[in-house]
Amino acid sequence: MGLEYLKITLLGTGTSQGVPVIGCKCDVCTSEDLKDNRLRTSILIETICGSVVIDTGPDFRTQMLREDVQSLDAIVYTHEHKDHVAGMDDVRAFNQIQHCALEVWANKDVEKALRRDFFYAFGNEKHGGLPQVNINSLGLEEENNGFYINKSKWTLLPVKHAQMDVYGFRVGDFAYITDVNFIPDSTYNKLAGVRVLVISALRKERHPSHFSLDEVLQVVERIKPEATYLTHLSHFIGKHEDLQAELPEGVFVGWDGCVIDNLNKSNK
Ligand SMILES: [Zn+2]
Ligand SMILES: [Zn+2]
Repeated sequence: MGLEYLKITLLGTGTSQGVPVIGCKCDVCTSEDLKDNRLRTSILIETICGSVVIDTGPDFRTQMLREDVQSLDAIVYTHEHKDHVAGMDDVRAFNQIQHCALEVWANKDVEKALRRDFFYAFGNEKHGGLPQVNINSLGLEEENNGFYINKSKWTLLPVKHAQMDVYGFRVGDFAYITDVNFIPDSTYNKLAGVRVLVISALRKERHPSHFSLDEVLQVVERIKPEATYLTHLSHFIGKHEDLQAELPEGVFVGWDGCVIDNLNKSNK
């Protein structure tokens, strides 16, 4: 499967507004700990089959520059909320470097949102100033059989975000699920044997469309990965350092720039 090498970089670990929140003077938003600065949630997955980004939020450009990403093989999308799609326009840089459209994998609802929000990219006019993407549809067939990006196999992990259908993804023994408040049994079955999990945990209080921290910890108990990293965090969840001190063994607060290399924890 070409997964002898698997490196994950957390590009952003913040909820939809990011942290700090504009105008907020709370302890978290004014913290001097750089780990309390959270761009919108996204990850980079690198295998010998190439580099793939999951979601292109409003901070996509900043994240690509910070991690010095030189090429991208594909973008896969979890769902169509703005904090996960807003940065798609900036694929132009990769179009120019790679001289081709970028391969995108998305369900029907995400495709609809991309065609609406970036309508200018899907017209008859084609020139270097426009983002170019080639959309590959994800649906029932891929839910049943998975799909391949170059030669690496991706397994879809359908979950719910209130009424919205969201895809998590499994590559080898790594799984990524963000923006979720329900995981069906059929998806739990696909998570068997996962060694490293990145999952969203918005805050401690209950929320209508996101798991709260205690709900995520129950999910972790059921999946039992060796290591879990929390992402999509709001300023309400507290400071990185304080939150880390409260978490059980094997559960880590994610942070922007955190690298998980060959599925081993790295504190680079
Ligand atoms: Zn989100
Ligand atoms: Zn704040």
